[in-house]
Amino acid sequence: MGVKTLNISDIQGKKVILRCDLNVPISDGLITDDGRIVASLSTIRKLLDAKCSIVLIAHLGRPKGERKPELSLLPVAKRLEELIGVQVEFSESILEASHKVAQLSPGKILMLENIRFESSETSKDESERSKFATVLAKYGEFYVGDGFGAVHRKHASVYELAKLLPSAAGDLVRAEVEVLEKLTKSPERPYGVVLGGAKVSDKIGVISNLLDKVNLLAIGGGMVFTFLAAKGMKIGKSLVETDLIPDVRALLERAENLGVRIILPVDIVVAKEFDATSTPTVVSSQNIPDDQMGLDIGPKSALVFAGEIKNCKTIFWNGPMGVFEFSNFANGTKVVAKALTEVDGMTVVGGGDSAAAVRKLGFKDNEFGYISTGGGASLEYLEGKELPGLAALS
Ligand code: AMP
Repeated sequence: MGVKTLNISDIQGKKVILRCDLNVPISDGLITDDGRIVASLSTIRKLLDAKCSIVLIAHLGRPKGERKPELSLLPVAKRLEELIGVQVEFSESILEASHKVAQLSPGKILMLENIRFESSETSKDESERSKFATVLAKYGEFYVGDGFGAVHRKHASVYELAKLLPSAAGDLVRAEVEVLEKLTKSPERPYGVVLGGAKVSDKIGVISNLLDKVNLLAIGGGMVFTFLAAKGMKIGKSLVETDLIPDVRALLERAENLGVRIILPVDIVVAKEFDATSTPTVVSSQNIPDDQMGLDIGPKSALVFAGEIKNCKTIFWNGPMGVFEFSNFANGTKVVAKALTEVDGMTVVGGGDSAAAVRKLGFKDNEFGYISTGGGASLEYLEGKELPGLAALS
């Protein structure tokens, strides 16, 4: 993709607009996983060392153009301040921050409130986005794009703004792109992809694009039931996307013709209700009772998946194997995560949510080869799509 990399001599002492992905999970005002803030520190430190003043732009959740107090970036600014050890000024106003920007001295940070509080940020109307980007562009002399988790979005602060100023990719975006390039161009073999999570519709594109590149594809999570249904199995009350069954059948046939092994679970942990306290039962994946729903891959399947993963030299994993938020249905995700930590090769955990899942389950970041900060962005990259935020930095 050839993104421009950050050259210190281009930014020394300048006022830099830095777009980060600080979209962390927050519950009751508390950040439950600060992985994305930590991942952004390297570029922020680099800019501070170069005596830049930083106008930091980020988003939180999907406020849809409205000011929602629970989606304020203020707790994120506080956490960043603790981590970086430098005062982080905050501007509640996005459109009228010029005064604060003008007062910003070298080595200081000003964070703007959640950029998605302005509806122009995510507007479908290009001229509206451009107008908004023109306002933002006045806040700096140089643009650094480091919000990997947002590069697949054609949003004003990701795309239009990057084109209005001299620009470059930050360290995080560069590292993410390097890893994803390796996965698409020269993966060491066997190369396996493990996919889970709720929906097939989110991942069918990536499966289709990866099919002629991988050696094996293991599938779990809520999406697996559309695969099981496509193979004519009874899936009870499990999640299913019926309209995609023909597409899934076509994928299975293509995989067979290409000699790609598709690993599906042989057993499933089921329950009557989608609830943390539901009693778990293990059944064969061939025959889920009508009144039960599959909430995790079964213990035999988890072992099969783990064995396959450990034999690979390259593994990309996105999406939990079950409803890991409920401890009764977290085993599949745990076993798969553990197997990834034991791979003698390159392992990539794709996605902020998958990353948060492995941390929640007690794994450490350094047990994995690389943890991507962007789920949707990394999937779209692997799907072979052009990502606007990278195109603008190319
Ligand atoms: P995604 O955002 O697509 O990666 O999906 C993640 C979500 O999928 C998690 O919140 C899981 O609880 C959920 N999930 C995983 N397995 C299942 C399942 N068998 N049934 C329902 N939801 C699931």
